[in-house]
Amino acid sequence: METPISFWREALCAAAARLGRSVRLMEVCGSHSFAAAKFGLRSLLPDSVRLLSGPGCPVCVSGPGFIDRAIALCRRNVRVAVFGDLLRIPGSAGTLQGEAGLMVIYSPEEALDYAVAHPDKEVVLAAVGFEPTLSAGAAILELAAERNAANFSLLCDFKRIRPVLDLLAADSGTRLDGFLLPGHVASVVGEAGFAGLALPGVISGFSAENMLHSILLLLQSIEQGGPAVINNYPEVVEASGNLAALAMIEHCFEPGPSEWRGMGNVPGGGWLIRPEFARFDAAKRFDLPLSAAREPAGCRCGEVLRGALAPDECPLFGRGCTPAHPVGACMVSGEGACAAAYRYREVAP
Ligand code: SF4
Repeated sequence: METPISFWREALCAAAARLGRSVRLMEVCGSHSFAAAKFGLRSLLPDSVRLLSGPGCPVCVSGPGFIDRAIALCRRNVRVAVFGDLLRIPGSAGTLQGEAGLMVIYSPEEALDYAVAHPDKEVVLAAVGFEPTLSAGAAILELAAERNAANFSLLCDFKRIRPVLDLLAADSGTRLDGFLLPGHVASVVGEAGFAGLALPGVISGFSAENMLHSILLLLQSIEQGGPAVINNYPEVVEASGNLAALAMIEHCFEPGPSEWRGMGNVPGGGWLIRPEFARFDAAKRFDLPLSAAREPAGCRCGEVLRGALAPDECPLFGRGCTPAHPVGACMVSGEGACAAAYRYREVAP
């Protein structure tokens, strides 16, 4: 039987009262942003506890330069395979939607199968994401090598969340007290992937009850004063992570600098294709430089992704920018903080 909501409200109020000060927590996962809005979790929190959305929506944090490169490939007569969530993400001068040669896929294997069946065509899989998607990216690179798919390559913008957590923890502007850590990423990197964080963190699942429990554990951890990682999603997350997935990632990718929307260039904030797999690296194969990309005029997604601005504090929220007519990436993606807040009419406390 589920614990009644009144229990969580009372427990959270008691924990917040014991702290005796305001605290700022951040959920670091797009699925958490969506779930928090859907379940109305912010309305259950004491006034002194603020839950901010962070940079955990992979489609949102990929910079406009990635979309610019994918568009450039489409215009070079390359078949570019993408998942549907990238279609309406703004680049410097438009979106991928409507580009000739675009192929919307449901799995990376579809793109590889198409390449093998059409050896006369160049096929590029454009992919973004954190470690769970990265492990699928590693699997497809290994498969492409095995099938000797000479006309297949990967244009990727895979992100490493850990250096960004360290930057956010040290950010005197955002002034965070703790993190609700991403359960999906943790299923790959394990508790070990968050060791040594400067702020307390709780790895959380995605049900309302699990998230409320995680917030309670986080308040208790802050009260106890020690940065520590608590695993509140043990049915999925192991201490050392998914060793098979980590080995595959290690085989195909290495950490490197990456451009994050809202965070700028983050050293070690991305995963780059290893030189051994360079023949499958579309950026090298097609000599695609990273140009100086522009954000849409008036868009404040960068501040939203840093937790410096609540979605409804952006002047365009619900006016010039809606899910039907999005201006920024955070309103496009189903896991974007602005889209979630708009859909569930969430108002910042
Ligand atoms: Fe960007 Fe639109 Fe959100 Fe403003 S409301 S931050 S423009 S997505």
